[in-house]
Amino acid sequence: VIDTVEDKEEDLQARPPIITIMGHVDHGKTSLLDRIRQANVVSGEAGGITQHIGAYQVKAESGAVLSFLDTPGHAAFTSMRARGANVTDIVVLVVAADDAVMPQTVEAINHAKAADVPMIVAINKIDKPAANPQKVRTDLLQHEVVVEEMGGDVQTVEVSAHTGQGIDTLLEAIALQSEILELTANPKRPAQGAVIEAKLDVGRGPVATVLVQNGTLKRGDIFVVGEQWGKVRALINDKGDRVDEAGPSVPVEVLGLNGTPEAGDVLNVVETEAQAREIAEYRENAAKDKRAAAGAA
Ligand code: GDP
Repeated sequence: VIDTVEDKEEDLQARPPIITIMGHVDHGKTSLLDRIRQANVVSGEAGGITQHIGAYQVKAESGAVLSFLDTPGHAAFTSMRARGANVTDIVVLVVAADDAVMPQTVEAINHAKAADVPMIVAINKIDKPAANPQKVRTDLLQHEVVVEEMGGDVQTVEVSAHTGQGIDTLLEAIALQSEILELTANPKRPAQGAVIEAKLDVGRGPVATVLVQNGTLKRGDIFVVGEQWGKVRALINDKGDRVDEAGPSVPVEVLGLNGTPEAGDVLNVVETEAQAREIAEYRENAAKDKRAAAGAA
């Protein structure tokens, strides 16, 4: 029932990369996400207000659009992957220039390698007097991450989330990496996406932030998402504006769900409400059986 037809070559268009920031605690993931968000908000003026919906888009100076997952840390990355949602094209590994490779840095390197996702290293806190970016590069080599300066193919960018130094360069490095990946999607097909956040809102009912991975999600579309289904009542973008549709790599809040899905659930647009209900019920029953079997064991 769910449309799994392969996209025709001529329907494929370039899409923005989806980026996850990872790294050791206190190396500056949150600060960097905040700085990037402020730097440059797509369609709004620089410094425009963004809503926290779990992801946001920015425009690099070159005009390239980039989509960032706004949830730092590794739990989100691994739990999404465990649920089958591979929503990351590029990992930005943050390493503090006044520290070095730490246990969670190694963990992030391993996650990126396991997922076969290319990495860009942001050497952060370059404003600090104790900053020693060269030590970071040598340290990385010990963990089989060979940076460009040492003959490898991993880009490093020296940045400061505090002063803003190097942020534009980082965005361009990501845009370059993205070009190499030749990321495409078919905006013409029914949407498929992944839930990156979901909650039950007192005023609005169940709300899910969906990152569209292929196709275009439109107001009025009927969909299944995990064990839930719904009909898109409203779409709200990362600026808090209502929009009529969201194409590939665009994060949007979706209203009109009959229940609250889980992060990592996959959303698929289907043709009729009957289909949507049937698939959701089937999945719900399958999940119940599984829980019962696990309980009996
Ligand atoms: P996270 O745990 O990786 O998300 O790290 P945070 O973003 O919370 O940053 C940890 C600490 O480092 C905070 O006190 C930040 O203010 C500080 N910090 C982050 N980036 C920079 C930077 O570029 N320069 C300096 N000097 N401090 C920074």
